[in-house]
Amino acid sequence: MQLIVQKFGGTSVADAARMKRAAKRAVEEYSAGSKIVVVVSAQGKMTDELLEMAYSINNKPSKRELDSLLSTGEQMSSALMAMAIHSLGVSAVSFTGRQIGITTDSFHTKARIVNINDSRILEELSKNKIVVVAGYQGVDENDNITTLGRGGSDTSAVALAALLKADMCDIYTDVDGIYTADPRTVSNARRLNKISYDEILELASMGAQVVHVRSIEFAKKFNVPIRVRPSFNNGTGTLICKEVGEMENIVVSGATVTKDDAKITIIGVADEPGQAANIFHELAKEKINVDMIIQNVSANGLADLTFTVQKDDLILALETTKRIKAEEIIADDKIAKLSVVGIGMRSHCGIAEKMFKTLSDEKINIQMISTSEIKISCVIEEKQAEKALNAVHNAFELDKEQ
Ligand code: ADP
Ligand code: ASP
Ligand code: MG
Repeated sequence: MQLIVQKFGGTSVADAARMKRAAKRAVEEYSAGSKIVVVVSAQGKMTDELLEMAYSINNKPSKRELDSLLSTGEQMSSALMAMAIHSLGVSAVSFTGRQIGITTDSFHTKARIVNINDSRILEELSKNKIVVVAGYQGVDENDNITTLGRGGSDTSAVALAALLKADMCDIYTDVDGIYTADPRTVSNARRLNKISYDEILELASMGAQVVHVRSIEFAKKFNVPIRVRPSFNNGTGTLICKEVGEMENIVVSGATVTKDDAKITIIGVADEPGQAANIFHELAKEKINVDMIIQNVSANGLADLTFTVQKDDLILALETTKRIKAEEIIADDKIAKLSVVGIGMRSHCGIAEKMFKTLSDEKINIQMISTSEIKISCVIEEKQAEKALNAVHNAFELDKEQ
Protein backbone atom coordinates (compact mmCIF):
# COMPACT_ATOMS: atom_id res chain seq x y z
CA MET A 1 0.00 0.00 0.00
CA GLN A 2 1.30 3.46 -0.91
CA LEU A 3 2.00 6.05 1.74
CA ILE A 4 1.70 9.68 0.72
CA VAL A 5 2.52 12.79 2.74
CA GLN A 6 0.48 15.79 1.61
CA LYS A 7 1.47 19.25 2.81
CA PHE A 8 -0.86 22.22 2.45
CA GLY A 9 0.56 25.74 2.72
CA GLY A 10 -1.12 28.75 4.30
CA THR A 11 -2.99 29.97 1.22
CA SER A 12 -4.25 26.46 0.50
CA VAL A 13 -6.07 26.28 3.86
CA ALA A 14 -6.78 30.02 4.27
CA ASP A 15 -10.55 29.73 4.81
CA ALA A 16 -13.26 27.14 5.33
CA ALA A 17 -13.81 26.54 1.60
CA ARG A 18 -10.10 25.99 0.89
CA MET A 19 -9.68 23.83 3.97
CA LYS A 20 -12.55 21.63 2.70
CA ARG A 21 -11.02 21.48 -0.77
CA ALA A 22 -7.69 20.35 0.70
CA ALA A 23 -9.49 17.77 2.86
CA LYS A 24 -11.23 16.46 -0.27
CA ARG A 25 -7.86 15.90 -1.92
CA ALA A 26 -6.64 13.91 1.07
CA VAL A 27 -9.83 11.85 1.08
CA GLU A 28 -9.66 11.18 -2.68
CA GLU A 29 -6.19 9.65 -2.40
CA TYR A 30 -7.17 7.81 0.77
CA SER A 31 -10.21 6.36 -1.01
CA ALA A 32 -7.99 5.30 -3.91
CA GLY A 33 -6.15 3.09 -1.42
CA SER A 34 -3.22 5.06 -0.02
CA LYS A 35 -2.25 5.75 3.55
CA ILE A 36 -2.27 9.52 4.04
CA VAL A 37 -0.42 11.84 6.39
CA VAL A 38 -1.45 15.49 6.02
CA VAL A 39 0.81 18.30 7.23
CA VAL A 40 -0.72 21.76 7.50
CA SER A 41 0.54 25.32 7.78
CA ALA A 42 -1.22 28.08 9.67
CA GLN A 43 -4.15 29.59 7.77
CA GLY A 44 -3.41 32.51 5.44
CA LYS A 45 -1.36 35.22 7.15
CA MET A 46 -1.95 33.83 10.63
CA THR A 47 1.77 33.53 11.48
CA ASP A 48 2.32 37.20 10.53
CA GLU A 49 -0.67 38.20 12.64
CA LEU A 50 0.61 36.26 15.64
CA LEU A 51 4.00 37.96 15.23
CA GLU A 52 2.30 41.35 15.12
CA MET A 53 0.39 40.52 18.30
CA ALA A 54 3.62 39.60 20.04
CA TYR A 55 5.44 42.77 18.97
CA SER A 56 2.48 44.97 19.93
CA ILE A 57 2.96 43.77 23.49
CA ASN A 58 6.74 43.63 23.69
CA ASN A 59 9.19 44.85 21.04
CA LYS A 60 11.77 42.28 22.16
CA PRO A 61 9.65 39.20 22.84
CA SER A 62 11.27 36.14 24.37
CA LYS A 63 11.96 33.63 21.62
CA ARG A 64 10.69 30.80 23.78
CA GLU A 65 7.34 32.53 24.22
CA LEU A 66 7.25 33.48 20.53
CA ASP A 67 7.54 29.80 19.63
CA SER A 68 4.68 28.88 21.98
CA LEU A 69 2.56 31.53 20.33
CA LEU A 70 3.52 30.86 16.68
CA SER A 71 2.96 27.12 16.97
CA THR A 72 -0.71 27.73 17.75
CA GLY A 73 -1.42 28.77 14.14
CA GLU A 74 -0.56 25.31 12.86
CA GLN A 75 -2.29 23.63 15.81
CA MET A 76 -5.52 25.42 14.87
CA SER A 77 -5.20 24.38 11.22
CA SER A 78 -4.57 20.74 12.09
CA ALA A 79 -7.71 20.44 14.23
CA LEU A 80 -9.79 22.19 11.55
CA MET A 81 -8.36 19.90 8.87
CA ALA A 82 -9.28 16.80 10.89
CA MET A 83 -12.82 18.19 11.26
CA ALA A 84 -13.01 18.86 7.52
CA ILE A 85 -11.98 15.26 6.81
CA HIS A 86 -14.57 13.98 9.31
CA SER A 87 -17.24 15.94 7.48
CA LEU A 88 -16.40 13.83 4.40
CA GLY A 89 -17.05 10.65 6.39
CA VAL A 90 -13.44 9.54 6.93
CA SER A 91 -11.65 9.02 10.26
CA ALA A 92 -8.83 11.40 10.97
CA VAL A 93 -6.85 12.48 14.00
CA SER A 94 -4.75 15.61 14.45
CA PHE A 95 -1.51 15.96 16.39
CA THR A 96 0.80 18.78 17.38
CA GLY A 97 4.52 18.30 16.83
CA ARG A 98 4.97 17.54 20.52
CA GLN A 99 2.29 14.83 20.52
CA ILE A 100 4.14 12.83 17.87
CA GLY A 101 7.54 13.40 19.40
CA ILE A 102 9.11 15.78 16.86
CA THR A 103 12.24 16.57 18.85
CA THR A 104 14.38 19.53 17.84
CA ASP A 105 17.41 21.38 19.14
CA SER A 106 16.72 24.38 21.41
CA PHE A 107 17.39 27.10 18.90
CA HIS A 108 14.07 28.90 19.25
CA THR A 109 12.44 30.28 16.06
CA LYS A 110 14.96 28.42 13.86
CA ALA A 111 15.10 24.97 15.44
CA ARG A 112 16.30 21.87 13.60
CA ILE A 113 14.59 18.50 13.84
CA VAL A 114 16.77 15.87 15.50
CA ASN A 115 14.34 13.01 15.90
CA ILE A 116 10.74 11.93 15.32
CA ASN A 117 8.98 9.06 17.00
CA ASP A 118 6.90 7.13 14.48
CA SER A 119 4.94 4.91 16.88
CA ARG A 120 1.84 7.09 17.35
CA ILE A 121 1.52 7.88 13.65
CA LEU A 122 1.93 4.24 12.62
CA GLU A 123 -0.62 3.16 15.22
CA GLU A 124 -3.22 5.61 13.90
CA LEU A 125 -2.46 4.78 10.27
CA SER A 126 -2.96 1.10 11.06
CA LYS A 127 -6.46 2.00 12.29
CA ASN A 128 -7.13 3.36 8.80
CA LYS A 129 -7.14 6.98 9.91
CA ILE A 130 -5.78 9.94 8.06
CA VAL A 131 -3.16 11.45 10.34
CA VAL A 132 -3.02 15.25 10.37
CA VAL A 133 0.12 16.88 11.74
CA ALA A 134 0.64 20.54 12.66
CA GLY A 135 3.65 21.68 10.64
CA TYR A 136 6.49 24.05 11.59
CA GLN A 137 6.91 22.87 15.16
CA GLY A 138 8.56 20.52 17.58
CA VAL A 139 9.70 20.35 21.13
CA ASP A 140 13.23 20.43 22.58
CA GLU A 141 14.64 17.94 25.07
CA ASN A 142 13.41 20.12 27.94
CA ASP A 143 9.85 20.08 26.61
CA ASN A 144 9.91 23.67 25.32
CA ILE A 145 7.91 24.24 22.13
CA THR A 146 10.10 25.24 19.18
CA THR A 147 9.44 26.34 15.59
CA LEU A 148 11.49 25.50 12.53
CA GLY A 149 11.90 28.94 10.88
CA ARG A 150 9.50 30.69 8.50
CA GLY A 151 8.19 28.32 5.84
CA GLY A 152 9.16 25.36 8.05
CA SER A 153 6.05 23.24 7.47
CA ASP A 154 7.69 21.94 4.30
CA THR A 155 10.45 20.57 6.49
CA SER A 156 7.95 18.91 8.84
CA ALA A 157 6.38 17.22 5.82
CA VAL A 158 9.61 16.01 4.24
CA ALA A 159 11.03 14.84 7.58
CA LEU A 160 7.87 12.78 8.13
CA ALA A 161 8.02 11.45 4.58
CA ALA A 162 11.64 10.38 5.17
CA LEU A 163 10.81 8.74 8.50
CA LEU A 164 7.80 6.87 7.13
CA LYS A 165 9.57 6.03 3.85
CA ALA A 166 6.69 7.63 1.99
CA ASP A 167 6.28 6.96 -1.71
CA MET A 168 5.75 10.67 -2.36
CA CYS A 169 5.73 13.99 -0.53
CA ASP A 170 3.27 16.31 -2.26
CA ILE A 171 3.71 19.98 -1.36
CA TYR A 172 0.46 21.73 -2.31
CA THR A 173 0.79 25.46 -2.76
CA ASP A 174 -0.55 28.54 -4.54
CA VAL A 175 1.58 28.18 -7.70
CA ASP A 176 1.37 25.27 -10.14
CA GLY A 177 4.96 24.19 -9.61
CA ILE A 178 8.51 25.48 -9.49
CA TYR A 179 9.23 28.14 -12.09
CA THR A 180 12.42 29.41 -13.69
CA ALA A 181 11.94 32.48 -11.48
CA ASP A 182 9.31 33.76 -9.07
CA PRO A 183 6.25 34.22 -11.33
CA ARG A 184 5.18 37.17 -9.18
CA THR A 185 8.27 39.09 -10.36
CA VAL A 186 8.98 37.61 -13.80
CA SER A 187 5.88 37.46 -15.94
CA ASN A 188 7.38 35.13 -18.58
CA ALA A 189 8.77 32.63 -16.04
CA ARG A 190 8.20 29.01 -17.11
CA ARG A 191 7.17 26.03 -15.02
CA LEU A 192 9.74 23.25 -14.84
CA ASN A 193 8.63 19.62 -15.05
CA LYS A 194 11.60 18.44 -13.05
CA ILE A 195 14.42 19.92 -11.02
CA SER A 196 17.32 18.28 -9.16
CA TYR A 197 17.76 18.45 -5.37
CA ASP A 198 20.99 20.42 -5.81
CA GLU A 199 19.43 23.07 -8.04
CA ILE A 200 16.38 23.71 -5.89
CA LEU A 201 18.63 23.70 -2.81
CA GLU A 202 20.71 26.53 -4.30
CA LEU A 203 17.63 28.42 -5.50
CA ALA A 204 15.89 28.11 -2.13
CA SER A 205 19.07 29.06 -0.23
CA MET A 206 19.37 32.12 -2.45
CA GLY A 207 15.84 33.28 -1.73
CA ALA A 208 13.31 31.33 -3.83
CA GLN A 209 10.84 30.85 -0.99
CA VAL A 210 8.77 28.26 -2.85
CA VAL A 211 10.20 25.50 -0.61
CA HIS A 212 11.99 25.61 2.75
CA VAL A 213 15.73 25.00 2.39
CA ARG A 214 15.92 22.44 5.19
CA SER A 215 13.19 20.37 3.58
CA ILE A 216 15.37 19.87 0.52
CA GLU A 217 18.39 18.97 2.64
CA PHE A 218 16.28 16.22 4.22
CA ALA A 219 14.86 15.12 0.90
CA LYS A 220 18.29 14.83 -0.68
CA LYS A 221 19.78 12.98 2.27
CA PHE A 222 16.95 10.46 2.49
CA ASN A 223 16.05 10.40 -1.20
CA VAL A 224 12.47 11.57 -0.71
CA PRO A 225 10.72 12.36 -3.99
CA ILE A 226 8.83 15.65 -3.75
CA ARG A 227 6.24 17.17 -6.02
CA VAL A 228 5.42 20.86 -5.70
CA ARG A 229 1.83 21.03 -6.90
CA PRO A 230 -1.05 23.47 -7.17
CA SER A 231 -3.79 23.10 -4.57
CA PHE A 232 -6.26 24.93 -6.82
CA ASN A 233 -6.25 22.55 -9.81
CA ASN A 234 -5.14 19.04 -10.75
CA GLY A 235 -1.78 19.99 -12.23
CA THR A 236 1.07 17.57 -11.63
CA GLY A 237 3.49 20.35 -10.74
CA THR A 238 7.26 19.95 -10.57
CA LEU A 239 9.09 16.83 -9.46
CA ILE A 240 12.16 17.37 -7.28
CA CYS A 241 14.43 14.38 -7.67
CA LYS A 242 17.97 13.07 -8.02
CA GLU A 243 19.95 14.39 -10.94
CA VAL A 244 19.51 12.32 -14.07
CA GLY A 245 21.67 12.38 -17.21
CA GLU A 246 19.78 14.77 -19.45
CA MET A 247 19.58 17.47 -16.76
CA GLU A 248 23.19 18.51 -17.37
CA ASN A 249 22.23 19.71 -20.83
CA ILE A 250 20.32 22.57 -19.26
CA VAL A 251 22.91 25.17 -18.39
CA VAL A 252 20.75 27.50 -16.29
CA SER A 253 17.53 26.18 -14.72
CA GLY A 254 16.46 29.16 -12.70
CA ALA A 255 17.16 32.60 -11.34
CA THR A 256 16.22 34.25 -8.09
CA VAL A 257 16.69 37.47 -6.18
CA THR A 258 16.42 38.12 -2.47
CA LYS A 259 16.25 41.28 -0.42
CA ASP A 260 16.68 39.42 2.85
CA ASP A 261 20.37 40.21 3.27
CA ALA A 262 22.41 43.12 4.53
CA LYS A 263 26.07 43.95 4.04
CA ILE A 264 28.61 44.88 6.70
CA THR A 265 32.01 46.37 5.88
CA ILE A 266 34.70 46.49 8.53
CA ILE A 267 37.27 49.06 7.47
CA GLY A 268 40.85 49.02 8.66
CA VAL A 269 41.38 45.78 10.56
CA ALA A 270 44.96 44.64 11.12
CA ASP A 271 46.15 42.59 8.13
CA GLU A 272 47.55 39.70 10.14
CA PRO A 273 46.80 36.01 10.69
CA GLY A 274 43.84 35.25 12.92
CA GLN A 275 41.79 38.41 12.27
CA ALA A 276 39.18 36.79 10.02
CA ALA A 277 39.06 33.72 12.29
CA ASN A 278 38.40 35.99 15.24
CA ILE A 279 35.60 37.98 13.54
CA PHE A 280 33.78 34.92 12.23
CA HIS A 281 34.24 33.10 15.53
CA GLU A 282 32.43 35.95 17.31
CA LEU A 283 29.62 35.85 14.74
CA ALA A 284 29.32 32.06 14.94
CA LYS A 285 29.02 32.24 18.72
CA GLU A 286 25.89 34.35 18.18
CA LYS A 287 24.63 31.80 15.61
CA ILE A 288 24.80 34.40 12.83
CA ASN A 289 25.09 32.89 9.37
CA VAL A 290 27.48 34.67 7.07
CA ASP A 291 27.13 34.18 3.34
CA MET A 292 29.38 36.11 0.96
CA ILE A 293 32.75 37.39 2.14
CA ILE A 294 35.38 39.58 0.46
CA GLN A 295 38.58 41.01 1.84
CA ASN A 296 40.77 43.75 0.35
CA VAL A 297 44.22 44.55 1.62
CA SER A 298 45.32 48.15 1.51
CA ALA A 299 48.86 49.50 1.39
CA ASN A 300 49.10 50.59 5.03
CA GLY A 301 48.97 47.09 6.51
CA LEU A 302 45.26 47.24 7.15
CA ALA A 303 42.48 45.26 5.47
CA ASP A 304 38.78 45.88 4.71
CA LEU A 305 36.38 42.99 5.15
CA THR A 306 32.88 42.90 3.69
CA PHE A 307 30.31 40.17 4.31
CA THR A 308 26.57 39.58 4.12
CA VAL A 309 24.21 38.38 6.84
CA GLN A 310 20.44 37.96 7.02
CA LYS A 311 18.73 41.32 7.63
CA ASP A 312 17.13 39.84 10.77
CA ASP A 313 20.61 39.35 12.20
CA LEU A 314 21.97 42.78 11.23
CA ILE A 315 21.63 44.50 14.62
CA LEU A 316 23.17 41.58 16.47
CA ALA A 317 25.92 41.26 13.85
CA LEU A 318 26.75 44.96 14.20
CA GLU A 319 26.89 44.69 17.99
CA THR A 320 29.16 41.69 17.61
CA THR A 321 31.53 43.23 15.06
CA LYS A 322 31.88 46.34 17.25
CA ARG A 323 33.94 44.14 19.59
CA ILE A 324 36.59 44.03 16.86
CA LYS A 325 39.34 46.62 16.65
CA ALA A 326 38.77 48.47 13.37
CA GLU A 327 38.71 52.01 11.98
CA GLU A 328 35.07 52.03 10.93
CA ILE A 329 32.10 49.69 10.48
CA ILE A 330 29.50 50.42 7.79
CA ALA A 331 26.16 48.62 7.32
CA ASP A 332 24.03 48.61 4.16
CA ASP A 333 20.63 46.96 4.22
CA LYS A 334 19.56 48.25 0.81
CA ILE A 335 21.09 45.40 -1.16
CA ALA A 336 19.74 42.48 -3.17
CA LYS A 337 21.36 39.20 -4.03
CA LEU A 338 20.77 37.96 -7.57
CA SER A 339 21.60 34.34 -8.43
CA VAL A 340 21.46 32.04 -11.45
CA VAL A 341 21.55 28.29 -10.88
CA GLY A 342 22.00 25.22 -13.07
CA ILE A 343 23.87 21.93 -12.93
CA GLY A 344 24.92 22.39 -16.55
CA MET A 345 27.27 25.18 -15.38
CA ARG A 346 29.67 22.46 -14.29
CA SER A 347 30.41 21.62 -17.90
CA HIS A 348 29.78 24.92 -19.70
CA CYS A 349 31.81 28.10 -19.55
CA GLY A 350 30.89 31.73 -20.18
CA ILE A 351 27.94 31.84 -17.79
CA ALA A 352 29.50 34.35 -15.40
CA GLU A 353 30.57 36.53 -18.30
CA LYS A 354 27.03 36.53 -19.71
CA MET A 355 25.53 37.44 -16.36
CA PHE A 356 28.01 40.29 -15.77
CA LYS A 357 27.56 41.63 -19.33
CA THR A 358 23.77 41.58 -18.92
CA LEU A 359 24.01 43.58 -15.68
CA SER A 360 26.47 45.99 -17.23
CA ASP A 361 24.15 46.58 -20.23
CA GLU A 362 21.42 47.45 -17.72
CA LYS A 363 23.84 49.83 -15.90
CA ILE A 364 23.61 47.75 -12.76
CA ASN A 365 26.72 47.84 -10.59
CA ILE A 366 27.98 44.59 -9.05
CA GLN A 367 29.10 45.03 -5.42
CA MET A 368 30.06 41.44 -4.55
CA ILE A 369 30.28 38.15 -6.40
CA SER A 370 30.28 34.55 -5.21
CA THR A 371 30.14 31.29 -7.11
CA SER A 372 29.68 27.60 -6.49
CA GLU A 373 29.90 24.77 -8.99
CA ILE A 374 26.29 25.33 -10.01
CA LYS A 375 25.54 28.94 -9.00
CA ILE A 376 26.66 32.53 -9.55
CA SER A 377 25.45 35.26 -7.20
CA CYS A 378 25.93 39.01 -7.35
CA VAL A 379 25.09 41.63 -4.74
CA ILE A 380 23.48 44.68 -6.34
CA GLU A 381 21.52 47.72 -5.22
CA GLU A 382 18.14 46.73 -3.78
CA LYS A 383 16.07 49.00 -6.00
CA GLN A 384 17.43 47.27 -9.12
CA ALA A 385 16.45 43.78 -7.98
CA GLU A 386 13.41 43.20 -10.21
CA LYS A 387 14.97 44.77 -13.29
CA ALA A 388 18.10 42.65 -12.84
CA LEU A 389 16.15 39.42 -12.36
CA ASN A 390 14.10 39.99 -15.51
CA ALA A 391 17.22 40.92 -17.48
CA VAL A 392 19.13 37.73 -16.62
CA HIS A 393 15.99 35.63 -17.08
CA ASN A 394 15.75 37.01 -20.63
CA ALA A 395 19.49 36.79 -21.33
CA PHE A 396 19.53 33.07 -20.51
CA GLU A 397 16.23 32.58 -22.40
CA LEU A 398 14.70 30.83 -19.43
CA ASP A 399 11.22 31.40 -20.81
CA LYS A 400 12.00 28.93 -23.63
CA GLU A 401 12.08 25.15 -23.31
CA GLN A 402 15.78 24.15 -23.49
P1 ADP B 1 2.96 28.07 0.94
O1 ADP B 1 2.19 28.98 1.83
O2 ADP B 1 2.09 27.14 0.15
O3 ADP B 1 4.08 27.38 1.66
P2 ADP B 1 4.83 29.97 -0.17
O4 ADP B 1 4.33 31.36 -0.22
O5 ADP B 1 5.77 29.61 0.94
O6 ADP B 1 3.58 29.00 -0.19
O7 ADP B 1 5.53 29.58 -1.55
C1 ADP B 1 4.87 29.77 -2.77
C2 ADP B 1 5.30 31.08 -3.40
O8 ADP B 1 6.69 31.00 -3.74
C3 ADP B 1 4.62 31.39 -4.69
O9 ADP B 1 3.43 32.10 -4.51
C4 ADP B 1 5.66 32.18 -5.50
O10 ADP B 1 5.36 33.54 -5.61
C5 ADP B 1 6.94 32.02 -4.68
N1 ADP B 1 8.10 31.63 -5.50
C6 ADP B 1 9.34 32.16 -5.40
N2 ADP B 1 10.16 31.63 -6.30
C7 ADP B 1 9.45 30.73 -7.01
C8 ADP B 1 9.76 29.83 -8.08
N3 ADP B 1 10.99 29.77 -8.62
N4 ADP B 1 8.78 29.05 -8.55
C9 ADP B 1 7.54 29.09 -8.02
N5 ADP B 1 7.19 29.91 -7.00
C10 ADP B 1 8.12 30.73 -6.50
N1 ASP C 1 3.19 29.22 9.19
C1 ASP C 1 4.63 29.28 9.09
C2 ASP C 1 5.03 30.50 8.28
O1 ASP C 1 4.19 31.28 7.85
C3 ASP C 1 5.22 28.01 8.55
C4 ASP C 1 4.82 27.65 7.14
O2 ASP C 1 3.87 28.22 6.59
O3 ASP C 1 5.44 26.74 6.57
O4 ASP C 1 6.19 30.73 8.10
MG1 MG D 1 6.05 27.91 2.16
